[in-house]
Amino acid sequence: MGEVLLLNKTSNAKRRQLVVGNWKMNGNRQSNAELLARIVAGWQGEHRAEVVVCPPAPYLVHTFEKISGSSILLGAQNLSQYDSGAYTGEVSAQMLAELHCKFVIIGHNERRRLQGETDEQVARKFIAAQRANLIPILCVGESSAQRENGQHLEVIGAQLQAVCAYVGCDVFKQAVVAYEPVWAVGTGKTATPQQADEVHRFIRAQLGEVAETVRILYGGSVKAGNADQLFALPDIDGALLGGASLDAEEFLKICKAAD
Ligand code: PEP
Repeated sequence: MGEVLLLNKTSNAKRRQLVVGNWKMNGNRQSNAELLARIVAGWQGEHRAEVVVCPPAPYLVHTFEKISGSSILLGAQNLSQYDSGAYTGEVSAQMLAELHCKFVIIGHNERRRLQGETDEQVARKFIAAQRANLIPILCVGESSAQRENGQHLEVIGAQLQAVCAYVGCDVFKQAVVAYEPVWAVGTGKTATPQQADEVHRFIRAQLGEVAETVRILYGGSVKAGNADQLFALPDIDGALLGGASLDAEEFLKICKAAD
């Protein structure tokens, strides 16, 4: 089994591994500076894996200053579906691009659940990001009830179709998908390799002609202790991290496992 997975992985070497840290609403200038100094020091030189940090929006400029000169890239956690206008409190894709963001997380389950974001809004945000040359990281995933009812593939398929139906699946050529089972995010529970493998293969099969080039990340309580096992799977191209991205040592261990 291990040998087969490694062979498949080699044949997918065209997809560069990606590790994304989603800091959520954590940190302050001082703790961010300390965290970034340790991450930058531990990620010197050239790497095969790409590393992205996504601080809260008010710290994007500060974070960019701290990572400049390193290979670490900047991402945002959310954006508006609109380009400009009377949308108090919102941040546009153009604004994020101007602050040197390369990536933006879209449709994280915390936004879908807590802010009521719909599949349609998520699709609009996806396109708004691409209009500004940002790479959307589209989060998809099922709740524990949906998994228990055997509906996980149906739910994830609908989340992907919301984008494909709107603008066609080819847009995934310039995008990343993150499979994040809601029951695994921030809970300490991780999908088993078998569960993750099933869903990652399913997602790739939904993406049409561009499927083989799309990076599909796993997210949900990834730690240094389980990263190797997940990264060995042929259709997992890296990780989206919450908790582990706030601990420099843990984050670097996962980045190195992806490298
Ligand atoms: C996340 O919020 O995207 C996430 C994966 O969180 P955690 O790693 O803490 O489960």
